[in-house]
Amino acid sequence: MQFITAEDAAGAGDVVVVGSGFGSLFFLKRYLELKPRSRILILERGRHNTSEWQQKNLKNSDLPETSTFVNESPKDWAFTIGLGGSTNCWWGQSPRLHPSDFELRTRHGVGVDWPVTYDDLIPYYKQVERIMPVSGPDDLDSEFPGTGQYPQRPHRMSSADERIRSTPGHKHFVVPNARLTSPLNGRGKCCASSTCNICPTGAKFTAFNGLADVLSHPGVRICTESEVRALDVEAGTVRKALFAHGGREHLASGDLFVLGANAIFNPLILMKSGIGGHGVGRYFGEKMFARVEVLLDGHQHFDGGTATTCFNLSRLDGPHRGQMGSAVYYIENNPMIPGLRVAKGRWREVMQVSVYVEDLLLESNGIFDEGGELPVLRHAGFGSYARRGLQAAVDAMPAMLKNLPVESITLKEIFPVLGHLQGTTRMGLTKEDSVVDAGLMHHDHRNLLIVGTSVFPTMGSVNPTLTASALSLRAAERMLVRR
Ligand SMILES: Cc1cc2nc3c(=O)[nH]c(=O)nc-3n(C[C@H](O)[C@H](O)[C@H](O)COP(=O)(O)OP(=O)(O)OC[C@H]3O[C@@H](n4cnc5c(N)ncnc54)[C@H](O)[C@@H]3O)c2cc1C
Ligand code: SF4
Repeated sequence: MQFITAEDAAGAGDVVVVGSGFGSLFFLKRYLELKPRSRILILERGRHNTSEWQQKNLKNSDLPETSTFVNESPKDWAFTIGLGGSTNCWWGQSPRLHPSDFELRTRHGVGVDWPVTYDDLIPYYKQVERIMPVSGPDDLDSEFPGTGQYPQRPHRMSSADERIRSTPGHKHFVVPNARLTSPLNGRGKCCASSTCNICPTGAKFTAFNGLADVLSHPGVRICTESEVRALDVEAGTVRKALFAHGGREHLASGDLFVLGANAIFNPLILMKSGIGGHGVGRYFGEKMFARVEVLLDGHQHFDGGTATTCFNLSRLDGPHRGQMGSAVYYIENNPMIPGLRVAKGRWREVMQVSVYVEDLLLESNGIFDEGGELPVLRHAGFGSYARRGLQAAVDAMPAMLKNLPVESITLKEIFPVLGHLQGTTRMGLTKEDSVVDAGLMHHDHRNLLIVGTSVFPTMGSVNPTLTASALSLRAAERMLVRR
């Protein structure tokens, strides 16, 4: 990797990329394949905290994310500030969004439609799954058309999963994830240690082990500890990025600007720059994350091959979405979430099920610039759409688990945080309904792209990051090949 000083950053890149998480690096992956002689400057707010540093310090960053915003909402927000962004802390769950998630308004009469469809994304999903690479089953086509065979074989499911799958018509599948089942390029295979925010074997995809070719590309210069504060616009074209480094302000010029600073800082930078669009900073949110404890009578759990083994899609889509959120159940094989059963001789007779529930992204929830350096986050908490979805999902669990010797099913808690920040620079067809178009280009400023999960107009219930990465690959290709 070629690290440069803030002084040298001024004219270091034709393409200036803000942030180095999923959105930015997958964009660069395709961009550099198509234009390998490009000069790229990455301005990254955080430090380069190596994998070794993270393992030694048992954290992903030296800069706590909670020090970077003012939270005036009843819930918390999590992400990593540092080179590689949240590729460091994520857990690697990598399902695709469901085809209906892109057409929520048309199919279910709520939310909005995306300006891209599931079919548009199929080739890019495939590419991301190959790059990370993703391990998964070969029977997901019925739910996610075109999935086919994953590049890595699936993780071993637990014996509880096998019993759930013995119900006719089940929708219970091994969850696709970016945790290796076979060693690859110096990365070890997953050993089910369930500490995936800091993986000891390199089995989990991160920017450092899966996109090292991008970070080390001869055309890429990286300036860390550089917080982009604003973009300078002249006659509708973005000319420079203003960034703070070592207590001083600096400017970096370029021809193309890619904003990949996450769903909190992307809109803050736009607001500080006077760059508009419908809903800049608004429609902020994430899905609900609840924990359900299932006590088992005589069945020993925790015999699967990775941290989370299967997901159940029986509440993923259907007419219920007109009134309540989609829900997905994840079978946890992780004895640390939240612990073993406290009963003599029965400590493995418990199974934790994580339930993710879709909520509506409301215009009233958002990121606000109130003149200070830190953005103010205001969110009213989960809405009735998500709460109804959770209740229905819990009510449906006895039927889903009927082939297991279930003693009790108890909704234990709704966690205050998940880490799936979304909204705030949504994609859409026109500037009257969104900030960026289907190619992630700002509607008014045609040399400004916005990448990452801030562009999601609705959230669905599964993990978002494979989709954000696929959108980035597609944006680079649309810009360089199809325009
Ligand atoms: C603990 C945890 C576990 C997760 N597990 C999963 C999972 O299993 N599956 C899944 O799909 N998703 C998961 N996620 C969510 C996933 O991490 C996000 O969806 C994804 O990282 C969003 O990508 P992004 O590019 O928008 O932002 P990020 O990856 O967060 O990247 C943003 C980048 O911008 C930098 N930056 C911020 N502000 C500035 C600035 N002003 N100037 C310069 N640089 C800046 C940051 O340092 C960072 O490098 C998890 C999240 C957390 C917190
Ligand atoms: S379960 Fe352990 S080895 Fe597997 S990805 Fe997670 S931390 Fe790494």
